[in-house]
Amino acid sequence: MNSIYLFPPSPVPTVPIKGGEQVFPVNRIFCVGRNYAEHAREMGGQPDKEEPFYFTKSPSAIVPSGASVSYPPETENYHYEIELVAAIGKPVFQAAPNDALDAVFGYACGLDMTRRDLQFRVREKQRPWDVAKDFEQSAVISPIVPSAVCGHLTHGKIELRVNGETRQKADLSDLINSVQELIVDLSRYYHLVPGDLIYTGTPAGVGPVVPGDHLIGSIAGLGEIELTVGKPHT
Ligand code: MN
Repeated sequence: MNSIYLFPPSPVPTVPIKGGEQVFPVNRIFCVGRNYAEHAREMGGQPDKEEPFYFTKSPSAIVPSGASVSYPPETENYHYEIELVAAIGKPVFQAAPNDALDAVFGYACGLDMTRRDLQFRVREKQRPWDVAKDFEQSAVISPIVPSAVCGHLTHGKIELRVNGETRQKADLSDLINSVQELIVDLSRYYHLVPGDLIYTGTPAGVGPVVPGDHLIGSIAGLGEIELTVGKPHT
C-alpha cells in the first residue's frame, strides 16, 4: 500500500561525483572530533590515540562547494574546519582492518562549519554539541572523487585559505586515526551503509569567518572546495 504523504517529503540530499553524471545520495553524516594532534591541543585537549569520538550532522545540512551560505543565527564565532571526507559505497559492520577500505566509494573535501561559541558553552555544561555542529548549511562538501580514480588517501597536503591567506595546512598522514582505522572503529557501533559520509576531523588553525569572506580549501588528489560567507538571514 502506498502511503499518502501529508506534504511532500524533503528531497534526498546529494553530492555530485566528479567526472560522472550520477550523484551520491546522502544517508548519514558522521564527524570525528580531534583527529589531528595540533588541533586537539588548540581546543584545550590532549591528543588521544585510543578513542576516536563522533558527532553527527543532519543530511539536510549538506551544501555543495561553490555555494554562498548565510552567516548562521545565534553565534558570534562562526568557524571553518577543512576535512577529508570518506564516502561509504558498500555496507560494512564490524569491519576487519583489511576489509575496511573496500567500503569506501570515494573521497571529498569537506568543511565542518561550527558555531564555536555555542560549542564551548555546551561543552562546559557537558551537554550535546548539536546546536554547535548540526545546523543548517553546516556540512559543505566538494564533488566526490571515486577511490577507483584517486586511490585511498593516506598522505598528501590538506589546506584552507581564507581571502587568499593560508589558515590551515597539514598532511593527511598527520591524522591520528586513519580512514581505515575510523571505519574499523565506527563500524563497531553502526551498520555503515552506502550514502554514509565520514568527516574525518580538522587540522590546527581553525578560526572565525565573517560575511564577505571567501574560503578555498584543497586536498591533494581531490581538487578544491569553495565557500562564500553571506549576510545573516533576516
Ligand atoms: Mn570537525
